[in-house]
Amino acid sequence: MSDVQGLDNLSPGLLDELRALEQQFEVTPAKLKQISHQFEEELKDGLAKDGTNISMNVTWVLGFPTGDERGSFLTMDLGGTNLRVCWTTLKGQDAETEVIQEKYFLPTELKTGSADALWDFITNSLAEFIRSQRLGGTREEPLPLGFTFSYPAIQEYIDHGKLQTWTKGFDIDGMEGEDVASQLREAMDKRDLPVKLVALINDTVGAMIASAYNDRETIVGAIFGTGCNAAYMDHVGSIGKLKTDLPPDTPMAINCEYGAFDNARKVLPLTKYDEAIDRDSPRPGEQAFEKMSAGLYLGEIFRLILCDLQERGLIFKGQDVSKLREPYLLDTGFLSSMEDDPFAATRSNFEETLNIQITWEELQLSHRLAEVIAERGARLCTCGISAICRMKSITSGHVAADGSVANKHPKFKARWAQAMGEVLRWPEDRKDDPIIITSAEDGSGVGAAVIAAMTLERIEKGDT
Ligand code: BGC
Ligand code: MG
Repeated sequence: MSDVQGLDNLSPGLLDELRALEQQFEVTPAKLKQISHQFEEELKDGLAKDGTNISMNVTWVLGFPTGDERGSFLTMDLGGTNLRVCWTTLKGQDAETEVIQEKYFLPTELKTGSADALWDFITNSLAEFIRSQRLGGTREEPLPLGFTFSYPAIQEYIDHGKLQTWTKGFDIDGMEGEDVASQLREAMDKRDLPVKLVALINDTVGAMIASAYNDRETIVGAIFGTGCNAAYMDHVGSIGKLKTDLPPDTPMAINCEYGAFDNARKVLPLTKYDEAIDRDSPRPGEQAFEKMSAGLYLGEIFRLILCDLQERGLIFKGQDVSKLREPYLLDTGFLSSMEDDPFAATRSNFEETLNIQITWEELQLSHRLAEVIAERGARLCTCGISAICRMKSITSGHVAADGSVANKHPKFKARWAQAMGEVLRWPEDRKDDPIIITSAEDGSGVGAAVIAAMTLERIEKGDT
């Protein structure tokens, strides 16, 4: 009997195509190690000097939380789909944090529109939230805000951040090279909002701090979602490029911005599909690593392969492929559900999303392609984390992960764990993995609030 997970329906020609693709997408243990070592070089480079691939941004989050941070804070997270605004009350690590939240749908046009339109949308939503939750706040006693901004920003202090470049398909004029914190402040002033921006926070740092609030074993905060990136805690003395009066042993959270790994394209096993994605993106040449491993791109890689096979007359003969031609029509959820339920889900996905009736042969092929693409992504995702661990001699702990790929792809975590063992050479017969992937606590609610609390405490104590 036919098995969708088998390949017994594939014609010899298509099977050859598939075997060739499997080979192009394979990341062998040796290749993993090579990439991870190059990664470590680039991480070190980023700490030593400016203008490198991986920018290793200092965040002015000076250490892990004690778990005693308390108080109520406004937090806000600009995501790809929504603006999430929360009123977060911390009661110490042993009591449950209260998060009241509202999501405001971010119209797609805003992502490629003007800075003014974006700030109007953000401040309108914020005003609406403050009003509906009756939060008050006055000019004398403004509401403290932690703003999660999940794009690369150079921070000279914690409530400052100059946007280096847009990523993840955003392309808004008038913001790159500018301090987004002061743009937000100006926009809030214009509306007379009783809010004080306390901290600008990368999502990876928020995930790390939210998780560390309860879990002392947290070593890294990582996002495997629309984009990919990680943060970890270093020391001022290890950051050669940083000019500061802080003592060298002061802890400093680093936002790696490692989606830009290997922008020079030395070791990444790029296929022609990866090259096409890069060429047609708003920022060609940038985020080389992210474009092979993050959720925004996995479905697009799959679509490009299908288009290629279709154009060469190998699949979807006589079908209407107009839908298939739409860039970015397929998200990672499309691939996830194929691996979740290869038979029914795949069939109906193709019918509903692509208006294509697929044959058994195409079903088996698609299922295998979904595996191949997701597996390459998950394996590549261990290269950055293993490099951080090697660089800092970290041998055990928790990688607090968030993002749609980590949380929703049925096989991501298992594949990640398998590859992590290969690259760090854990013994095959180990009882437990020393470094494990955990689900991050709410970074942009709890994490941003904890960071705001830590910052206010520091200001109160007179430290800068
Ligand atoms: C951004 C990072 C962010 C990551 C995950 C990347 O595109 O450059 O700042 O942490 O996506 O959201
Ligand atoms: Mg996000």
